[in-house]
Amino acid sequence: MAKTIYIAGLGLIGASMALGIKRDHPDYEILGYNRSQASRDIALKEGMIDRATDDFASFAPLADIIILSLPIKQTISFIKELADLDLKEGVIISDAGSTKSAIVDAAEQYLTGKPVSFVGAHPMAGSHKTGAASADVNLFENAYYIFTPSSLTSPDTLEEMKNLLSGLHARFIEIDTKEHDRVTSQISHFPHILASSLMEQTATYAQEHEMARRFAAGGFRDMTRIAESEPGMWTSILLSNRETILDRIEDFKERLDEVGQAISKGDEEQIWNFFNQAREQRQAMEIHKRGGVDSSYDLYVDVPDEEDVILRILELLRGTSLVNIHINEENREDIHGILQISFRNAQDLERAEHLITENTDYTVVIK
Ligand code: NAD
Repeated sequence: MAKTIYIAGLGLIGASMALGIKRDHPDYEILGYNRSQASRDIALKEGMIDRATDDFASFAPLADIIILSLPIKQTISFIKELADLDLKEGVIISDAGSTKSAIVDAAEQYLTGKPVSFVGAHPMAGSHKTGAASADVNLFENAYYIFTPSSLTSPDTLEEMKNLLSGLHARFIEIDTKEHDRVTSQISHFPHILASSLMEQTATYAQEHEMARRFAAGGFRDMTRIAESEPGMWTSILLSNRETILDRIEDFKERLDEVGQAISKGDEEQIWNFFNQAREQRQAMEIHKRGGVDSSYDLYVDVPDEEDVILRILELLRGTSLVNIHINEENREDIHGILQISFRNAQDLERAEHLITENTDYTVVIK
């Protein structure tokens, strides 16, 4: 039976979800709320949604499923607003917020006793881009889509949500709300703090040591890439997961002190073990295998340093949706360099490998 879905917030996440829902459920009506007209217009024009409003309350009573895809603070204030609206009996309400406890607590505070089902959710994919203009139907492909069920989640809700979101091609998983915030503080929130701290430290240092800017290369780039993230989103993430993040910061200070002490003592064995342990741990981690969070499908081409070689490869790959291309300059030794091309899925990767090996004599490696 065709359903009416209401997506509030037609930003990167909300608009990409709309595209994914349409892919598997073209008969569903998707209603969209957005504060600014620009994303409303894009979402309507691109057929992501069927109808749009800037008045959140107006569409809520029409929906079978409501997805709030807004900043955390706004998600909480709309949950509060929903509690006073005359919604369809049994409506499912979900969200997309990057932290879960504050949102699930708010839902429990405002929605308990109402004839609704609420399930917290966090699609673990994104980018530094914002707005409906950046929407991508493949954004969530192979990414974890986390649900944090609570006492407000009625039994069929998860199945209904998974069915609704099947076109996202994400990997659904359920986890306790607080555990979600603890785990993401370690693997996502704290790394963002580190990246931005390192960036700021380096920028300050570079004021007196101009060469620091010039010499910063691959390692520095990899460590600081996420310092380009959207500041508003990260401010609200840190403020809605304070205790857990503070705990990670304290823990990290101790680790830095330990390395500092080993260096000051000149303890070669401890320093070697420190690096070796981290290397082994990283190699054993899921990001090293296919399909981990943020993982992509990478292909390395050993290319000669000749004019137009990259253009030639890109020409071969026309029509294959690559997500990133990168020249590993550090690996260049005289004439050879390594071109790293990342794809969204295994099919594209295989197709690219085939095209390049068939049409060139370059060595292709998949790691
Ligand atoms: P976005 O900036 O692309 O979109 C945010 C949306 O919220 C826009 O539609 C904007 O108009 C609306 N909005 C902002 N402030 C508002 C306000 N005060 N009142 C009404 N509407 C308002 O952001 P996004 O990346 O789509 O993020 C949406 C949610 O998804 C956030 O909770 C974020 O934590 C979460 N999330 C983001 C990512 C990511 O990497 N971008 C990943 C996973 C989850």
